[in-house]
Amino acid sequence: MVLWFYFTMNLKIFKGIDYLKPQEQKSIQLRLLKNTLQRAYSTSPFYKKAFAKSGINPDNIKKLEDLQRLPFTTKNYLQKDNWAFLSVPKSKVAEIVATTGTTGEPVFIALTERDLERLAENEKKSFGYTGATSEDLFQIAVTSDNLFIAGMAYYRGLLRLGAGVVRIGAQNAGRNLSLIKKLKPTGMVAVPSFMVALARHAKEEGLSTRNASLKKIVLIGESIRNPDFSLTSLGKLVEDAWGRKCFSTYGITEAALSFCECIYRNGLHSHPDLVIAEIVDDKGNPLKDGETGELVVTPLQVEGMPFIRYKTGDITFKISEKCRCGRTSLRIGPIIGRKHQRLKVKGVTLYPKTIENALLEIKDIINYQVEAYTGPDYTDHVRVLVGTDRKDPSFQKTVCDRLKAKARLTPEVKIMPPKEIEKELYKGGSRKALTFKDSRSGLKPGRSA
Ligand SMILES: [Zn+2]
Repeated sequence: MVLWFYFTMNLKIFKGIDYLKPQEQKSIQLRLLKNTLQRAYSTSPFYKKAFAKSGINPDNIKKLEDLQRLPFTTKNYLQKDNWAFLSVPKSKVAEIVATTGTTGEPVFIALTERDLERLAENEKKSFGYTGATSEDLFQIAVTSDNLFIAGMAYYRGLLRLGAGVVRIGAQNAGRNLSLIKKLKPTGMVAVPSFMVALARHAKEEGLSTRNASLKKIVLIGESIRNPDFSLTSLGKLVEDAWGRKCFSTYGITEAALSFCECIYRNGLHSHPDLVIAEIVDDKGNPLKDGETGELVVTPLQVEGMPFIRYKTGDITFKISEKCRCGRTSLRIGPIIGRKHQRLKVKGVTLYPKTIENALLEIKDIINYQVEAYTGPDYTDHVRVLVGTDRKDPSFQKTVCDRLKAKARLTPEVKIMPPKEIEKELYKGGSRKALTFKDSRSGLKPGRSA
């Protein structure tokens, strides 16, 4: 294959890079990595200091694997001194976005005009994996304002692809449905639970969702797949309601990039000219294919705020072998959980999401809350509050049996009226339902952050 690239405001787009032999792909990545390191070294106050401290000179990086010699960047650094990462004069900043702040203080990410081009290219590629073309009309049912990067990224990416967009947002189910009916979009971007809520709303109105015009449903925010790529109960709910196979996508605000499934839905593809992804264990050692660990990303071709080996806190695994779609780009598995939420119950390591997925599969559960706490033995314990209208005592056993089978867990299960659980979920005025409550003391010896 002939490789070529062109410049769009100095952004290098390597057409066909996803199909290159791994070695060829790596040599392009090495070149882009060297640029990234050199740029961070010369323009980022944070990295200038970090490089000097660790005695590393970007010129010492001769092969891609040398990246592993560089220290990690954690969100803590950003939270401590956000603007030490700014690598351009303030006048070059085009847009500022922020993380949601679900794990501590939100952080701000400054993007230049070129970064916005890069972001658009990133999403154009991601949508391309789903088979989207300029013929498509996409309804964007995710937040596009409030400093969120995602909605804005999809908007720019779809425009760059040449597709049409309907930018409605996630606020109003009725209006979303009415637009689907009137404008007949062929694609939709939404959070899975919003698609379920839309289907429920449609049912109440006597409308069918299985015959809707939507051909490509791209889901963000919540994982719809188990580690073996089978659908989670949430994924099943969406696909059953809409009668369509869905695509999962995963994005990282700090790195201004996303990973997305192709039509084979066997892992989320990375864009090799925009990111180098690694999976590492708790000690920071690189892991092999299929081994579960933390996703670390080094975004390439970033101008405003470059990051090197950024620890995402998300747990997954990597797949290096060629995909059935022909792409050789590195893939990651579904996100299994957040690192800081990892539980170790009676020797079994698991994430709250696994418990939640098991609960979602049980009929008659209206709502729930999973709570982790530190027992008198200083180990993790789990309590599950289940909201149901079922009054028979056998229901509690059903829940316990299912959790044991699906999550290898024997937790305390407390059956409660759904209204009581509702109060717990939104305690303290939380806008988002607190389905996992972490009440662990954090004093346990040896627990990593
Ligand atoms: Zn593929």
